[in-house]
Amino acid sequence: MSDARRVIAELKELAARTSTPEGAQRLAWGPVWRDARAWFQGKVAELGLRAEPDAAGNLWVTVPGDSARTIIMGSHLDCVPNGGWLDGCFGVVAALEALRSHARGKKPPVTLKLVDWADEEGARFGRSLFGSAAAAGTLQLEDVRGLKDRHGTALPDALRENGVDLERVLDAHTQFKAIDARAYLEVHIEQGPVLESLGKSTGVVIGTFGVERHMMRFTGQAAHSGSTPIPMRRDAFLAAAATALECRQIALRHSKPGAGVVCTVGVVNVEPRVVTAVPGVCEISLDQRALDAEVLAVMNREARAASERLARENNVTVEWRHLLRIAPRPFDPALLRLCEQSVQEVTGEAPRLPSGPLHDASEMAARVPTVMVFSSSTRGLSHCKEEDTPEEHLERTTRAFLGLVDRTVAHVAAAP
Ligand SMILES: [Zn+2]
Repeated sequence: MSDARRVIAELKELAARTSTPEGAQRLAWGPVWRDARAWFQGKVAELGLRAEPDAAGNLWVTVPGDSARTIIMGSHLDCVPNGGWLDGCFGVVAALEALRSHARGKKPPVTLKLVDWADEEGARFGRSLFGSAAAAGTLQLEDVRGLKDRHGTALPDALRENGVDLERVLDAHTQFKAIDARAYLEVHIEQGPVLESLGKSTGVVIGTFGVERHMMRFTGQAAHSGSTPIPMRRDAFLAAAATALECRQIALRHSKPGAGVVCTVGVVNVEPRVVTAVPGVCEISLDQRALDAEVLAVMNREARAASERLARENNVTVEWRHLLRIAPRPFDPALLRLCEQSVQEVTGEAPRLPSGPLHDASEMAARVPTVMVFSSSTRGLSHCKEEDTPEEHLERTTRAFLGLVDRTVAHVAAAP
């Protein structure tokens, strides 16, 4: 069996073991996830290697090389409830294949590590990138200490069931800093429709989007829908709706080919929510994403100015509340070149695209030169049981990733 065919066969094996008819069930810190990891540890043991946990519950496998310079490959075995068979585990299983070729041959010139990050999805406690953020040193304990799942289980208790002490998870950062990490490589499904729409199997990911997330609260005056003439209203919903449309225009204005930006108004709360009342209060969310920090900042300033102008025009007021800010993470130029060569070699072309979703690679990119490879996603679907990728796309993307690993080994070994 070819290396790439074996990756697909192993992904199917894992899916059969950890899925129900509703989809994959490898929810972080739970029994099915532990079983997925036991399966993974069995595969690692077959290579004569061991998977060892760090203080945050991430599993690390090492193939020592002639030099302590290290290339890290990673992704995550956990998934959302009723998730797909590829999100996360494709990257872990493909990285395992890369380790396999180096563990069996002669000792590699540099050290290779594979990491299965713990709780990438944050599906149970709401904190994504838990394990990689702990390793990168960006996890704030005070932000997560009080988190509970929907059954009322506290995060520290769920961690304890898995041998992880929340108060010590940042020791994973100390452990991480002891690694002479020179590159971080991750392969993942796109989870969006771009590659499929271009008719491509494989893409070079140029970075992960930065995020500006806010709530806007428009306040006017609730009034009777029959008695209040339109020019005399203070309709908070109309100001919010006009702002939502304007935010979309702002995003479209800043989108350039190859450097798309996005924005979403995903939440609308209106009061008093009565068919015969003019809305007196309307709250909307705004989530803006871009790969360029300056573009993201300008988009945010323009959205703010638009909301204030449209509030005035509708005779209401607006207040902003900040929810989340994440810096864009452009990937490493030297690794991007290696990635392009590897994708080109297998597919004859190397389309570039940014990643809208965050990945463990976003945390790593702040610490280590990083690059990602994407495989197409059928109909752009992910986080659902319909998630899929044509097998020949998975095969080509795996071959491109394995080529990237080999090129990176040579690149890191040759660095001064
Ligand atoms: Zn993922």
